[in-house]
Amino acid sequence: MNASDLAFDRQHLWHPYTSLRDPLPVYPITSATGCRLQLADGRELVDGMSSWWCAIHGYNVPELNDALHRQAERMSHVMFGGITHEPAIELGKRLVKILPKGLDRIFLADSGSVSVEVAMKMAVQYQNALGFPERHKFLTLRGGYHGDTTAPMSVCDPVTGMHQVFRGFLPEHAFFRRPPGGYQSPVDPVYVADLAAFFAEYAGRTAAFIVEPVVQGAGGMHFYNPAYLRVFRELCDRHGLLLIYDEIATGFGRTGQLFLGGGGAGNEISPEGEANHRPDIMTVGKALTGGYLTLAATVCSAEVADVIGRGEAGVMMHGPTFMANPLACAVACASIDLLLASPWEQQVRCIASRLTRHLRPAAQSSRVKEVRVLGAIGVVEMHEPVDVAAAQAIFVREGAWIRPFGRLIYLMPPFTINEPELELLCRAVVKYV
Ligand SMILES: *Cc1c(COP(=O)(O)O)cnc(C)c1O
Repeated sequence: MNASDLAFDRQHLWHPYTSLRDPLPVYPITSATGCRLQLADGRELVDGMSSWWCAIHGYNVPELNDALHRQAERMSHVMFGGITHEPAIELGKRLVKILPKGLDRIFLADSGSVSVEVAMKMAVQYQNALGFPERHKFLTLRGGYHGDTTAPMSVCDPVTGMHQVFRGFLPEHAFFRRPPGGYQSPVDPVYVADLAAFFAEYAGRTAAFIVEPVVQGAGGMHFYNPAYLRVFRELCDRHGLLLIYDEIATGFGRTGQLFLGGGGAGNEISPEGEANHRPDIMTVGKALTGGYLTLAATVCSAEVADVIGRGEAGVMMHGPTFMANPLACAVACASIDLLLASPWEQQVRCIASRLTRHLRPAAQSSRVKEVRVLGAIGVVEMHEPVDVAAAQAIFVREGAWIRPFGRLIYLMPPFTINEPELELLCRAVVKYV
């Protein structure tokens, strides 16, 4: 990769959320192994991002490479219409085993945003089949993020999601303020009462309530008490709304639990019964393939699937070209097997305590508003927006790959990261703030 390649990139290739008139600098990476990214100039960076929540096992993982090679030699892709194959069936079996009980009807989508599109269409088709065609709006929370295609974007935070630019194009849904911050902060009865009033106002026109449970990711890295999940479930039941959990970011152990939506291995949320927390529809993606290939899933209850099947359309109205891509499914199976065979709970707990310890000095800075940690997610919230290019130049000089957004600098490293690597990441953050 030489200077003219980079000039070509600057002129022709859009990167996520950038301008082609004045693009932010990009760093050429030539390979990645373990928790390290190799820069083209020979320097190595410790990865603090897991490539946006995905690479939970790190990079160049022998087990995932093997799964990919073996599947490529048999069949890289075949249409899923009228055909099935072992990688899809094997992945389905694994998901049924680890997802919250009762969520066992699976739609394999080709990205997180598409899985949210599918979840929203499921909810609309469900209400339609029940005889409520007027129930096609969605309720959601401010500060949420659900993807970049149109329907998911319409339920992203209206401000950070730039809804004013797309006014008239985006469908309009109803937003309520997010629960107060803090995993352990007590449930606020005023919030609960106001949310109940909000539901009562909109329910008659609404198909579903869609939220990221406990951790709002790209909308602000906001953590709230899991006790609110029971409130969401109760309000949805009272008003006949479906409850959709978007666990694309939180799924597969990132928060210290495999999933937040009730049930499943390692879930400690619900001593009084997982049903209190179980959504009707749930989306997973990102870490599903360990960061190797794009794949997501929309899972729902048998009841939702059955009602949709009895509706006017008679079928679930979606079917992407690359649905259930065999390469992606095979790697997802290997990634889930690797995760379940690993001491992931201990790894995440360990990362949490190290993040807490090594990010603590950042709280001393007058530029820092709050430092918070949940599972393998460490967040430093600044008072002012971060200058991304300037911050990244400092991080890279320190040997760290960290990409801030807005007022947030955050770390969510692969679960396999060791203590010196994690310390290096935290030191880079502390140095910057
Ligand atoms: C990343 C993300 C999405 C979108 O997934 P893509 O694969 O980028 O389309 C949706 N919801 C949440 C919570 C996410 O973190």
